[in-house]
Amino acid sequence: MPQVTYLAKLGELTLKGSNLKEFEKRLVNNAQLYLEAVPARVTLRAGRMYIEGPESSCPAIEFTLSHLIGITGWAKTIICEKTIDSMKQAVMKLALEAKEKGANTFKVDVRRAEKSFPYNSYEIATETAADVFDQQILKVDVHKPDVKICIEVREKCFVYSNANKGCRGLPVGVSGKGLLLLSGGFDSPVAGYRMCRRGMKVECVYFHAYPYTSAEAQKKVEDLAQVLSFYGVDTHINTIPFTAVQMRIKEKSPEEYSTLLLRFCMMKVANLLAARLGAQCLITGESLGQVASQTIENMQVTEAASEYPLVRPLIGLDKEEIISTAVEIGTHDISVLPYEDCCVLISPRHPVLRAQVDEVEKLYDSLEVDDLIQESYDKR
Ligand code: ATP
Ligand code: MG
Repeated sequence: MPQVTYLAKLGELTLKGSNLKEFEKRLVNNAQLYLEAVPARVTLRAGRMYIEGPESSCPAIEFTLSHLIGITGWAKTIICEKTIDSMKQAVMKLALEAKEKGANTFKVDVRRAEKSFPYNSYEIATETAADVFDQQILKVDVHKPDVKICIEVREKCFVYSNANKGCRGLPVGVSGKGLLLLSGGFDSPVAGYRMCRRGMKVECVYFHAYPYTSAEAQKKVEDLAQVLSFYGVDTHINTIPFTAVQMRIKEKSPEEYSTLLLRFCMMKVANLLAARLGAQCLITGESLGQVASQTIENMQVTEAASEYPLVRPLIGLDKEEIISTAVEIGTHDISVLPYEDCCVLISPRHPVLRAQVDEVEKLYDSLEVDDLIQESYDKR
């Protein structure tokens, strides 16, 4: 079976000095994990990652390259000899393919990493473009071409057109581990994804209050984790049965404080879990001012319940920005389903907007809920 080669450009990695080797190794390992079940070989040379395999591996390789974090772009390449003639043939092949798909204009872009090659970049571009132009297959447009054909002259010569965008960022695993509080809404899945993009390994916790929150709500969270796993999030969800804690809050808390106390209790359990998982922070989908529990004062209260740093990657984004990322990463259509994760038990009509840490701590103590918190953690 004919072999194919894909080439990917690494992103920020090249800036990271002494960590470079570790980052590169992690990127290759991550790519290999995606490709575990298919014949494909991943290698890395001089700031480029190469994935080779039989034609039948193309879908898996393309899936990998569209989700792997840490690359800025990728393309399927033609490999040819380092001669002007073979480059010309490759350029012609790609130009004809582009014309068939409706392109009218083109440009050849050359990167000459191998400096011993006797032509400079400009000469390579003009020589290889000449036939396409002379035979009136495509016209040249150096500013806004319909198709950009790239030639990279390295130990061999790589020719490709229309490179795809990659997921910029740091390879998942180089920035420690975080525990994501994942609900069925739009925000928390996007928050988890954003942390993956900064190289963080993410595990999930979900608070379930059966029967007040439905089995469908839980399934929704599982489906979200499945989509997030394409970017490196752990598919396993730590599900915490939270009905008893919610009932206690309902029973003993002043109504306007109930949401805040619920969040306080969630933090307590998340702290226990983070310790067990070796996570270094908790991640939530909060955004400043989005709902009553997300005023700066109320977030300070939630913060007081946690010994781990609370990371809120969406803090400065509005709902539209969050939703557009949700669409892009494929969580939107799951989050939009109606099954609510939030509990009918706790939905105060007038939630407190600017609570004080010490008053909430006192209310928390009066709930006498520590045993229930420990129990819910143990039953996960
Ligand atoms: P989301 O869209 O992520 O559900 P939201 O706008 O509904 O967020 P809240 O319900 O106030 O906001 O929740 C704030 C954050 O708390 C969520 O982004 C999520 O990280 C966490 N959270 C809320 N409910 C749960 C739950 N049942 N299980 C796990 N985490 C939760
Ligand atoms: Mg929610």
